[in-house]
Amino acid sequence: MATYEFLCPACGPFDVVLPMGTASAHRECPWCGVGARRVYSAPRLSRPAPAMAGALAREERSRDEPEIVSSVPRHRRRR
Ligand SMILES: [Zn+2]
Repeated sequence: MATYEFLCPACGPFDVVLPMGTASAHRECPWCGVGARRVYSAPRLSRPAPAMAGALAREERSRDEPEIVSSVPRHRRRR
């Protein structure tokens, strides 16, 4: 299922959930019955948290430029 956005000239935007690939270019407005056209908006993507973004960037860099460790990392006491 996918959420499709339509814009009624009188009532404004509304969403309709339909199986993927089944939305037409026009749809009847659920409030006033006027033909509403389908509109396209940016997908609802989210950005990873800064700590996760940093870890992903480090991982990506390590493919070609692995970090060189010159000493043994200090032991951290686990709690
Ligand atoms: Zn309407």
